Amino acid sequence: MNLNENLIKKFGDSFSRNVNLSNYSWFNLGGPAEFFFKPKDKNQLIEFLIAAKKINLKTIILGAGSNTLVRDNGVKGAVIKLGSNFSFTKLVDKEIVEVGAATLDRKVANFAKDNDISNFEFLSCIPGSIGGAVIMNSGCYDDDISKILLSIKVIDINNCIEKEIKYEDIKFLYRGTNLPKNLIIISVKLKGKISNKNKIEKKQIELISKKKLSQPSQIKTCGSTFKNISKEKKAWMLIKDSGCNEFKEGDAMISEKHCNFFLNNGNAKSADIERLINKVKKTVYAKTGVNLELEIKIIGD
Ligand SMILES: Cc1cc2nc3c(=O)[nH]c(=O)nc-3n(C[C@H](O)[C@H](O)[C@H](O)COP(=O)(O)OP(=O)(O)OC[C@H]3O[C@@H](n4cnc5c(N)ncnc54)[C@H](O)[C@@H]3O)c2cc1C
Repeated sequence: MNLNENLIKKFGDSFSRNVNLSNYSWFNLGGPAEFFFKPKDKNQLIEFLIAAKKINLKTIILGAGSNTLVRDNGVKGAVIKLGSNFSFTKLVDKEIVEVGAATLDRKVANFAKDNDISNFEFLSCIPGSIGGAVIMNSGCYDDDISKILLSIKVIDINNCIEKEIKYEDIKFLYRGTNLPKNLIIISVKLKGKISNKNKIEKKQIELISKKKLSQPSQIKTCGSTFKNISKEKKAWMLIKDSGCNEFKEGDAMISEKHCNFFLNNGNAKSADIERLINKVKKTVYAKTGVNLELEIKIIGD
């Protein structure tokens, strides 16, 4: 029995091979995952990590794919995507919620609202999962996940052991953290402030409309391509001032509404998006001396 048959036998329909990842990235692009694993629960995830470690199978975790470009040749090794049991919301205390790492940010925002907990409103504007939001320290309009995070539960890929990491032990950066790459977040504890459902709903609606005005929707994108330099010096300004906003590579284009949003206009390849990224980066550097840093993650070969 070969490696694939062994794993298929052990993990059944949670494990598959040659899975098209374009369905799992908001760019709607990218090649296949050599192996794809969707754990049913924590125990199965740990069991899989132990099996993968034994045969030196590389693993990578994907959230909702709203910040990830998958290369055209796909990903070698196993892509792990947490299954529906990792999507849950639970009230722990009157201001504290625990949510599964695969829970969509919007769902977390609504759960907090339904329990009269404020400070989660910004999550209603971010399309990813909570696991991805922690890794990216996602946020908008002066809020980010670090402001409401209490702790995370993770499985360490190196020793396949579960542990809890408290807020104090994480260094949060602008759109990132110092968390090592060998951790899979399985759940997250967040703390807000008791308020009133109607007030919270009003703020959510305000933020969503504000976002709709400044950012495109209904397009194949992963949001901001580059990190802002500062509040005053935004990536989109540098892109526009350097005359890059009409650049295109095949069907990889830049949004007219927000020139830090790169998009797949239908038939782009991931390589087109990467070429566009590099062209913009080079031009902005030549014109302004600023070296733009990627906000989106690129995976694959
Ligand atoms: C239209 C649009 C608007 C956006 N607006 C914003 C915005 O306002 N503010 C903002 O900050 N971002 C924004 N984004 C970007 C994106 O939504 C966020 O970065 C989001 O938090 C990513 O979550 P995800 O689950 O999709 O992560 P993915 O893209 O799947 O992964 C991102 C990173 O997190 C890691 N990861 C994911 N889940 C886990 C886990 N369980 N354990 C360990 N690592 C994990 C991945 O390995 C990867 O490194 C926008 C994107 C789009 C498409």
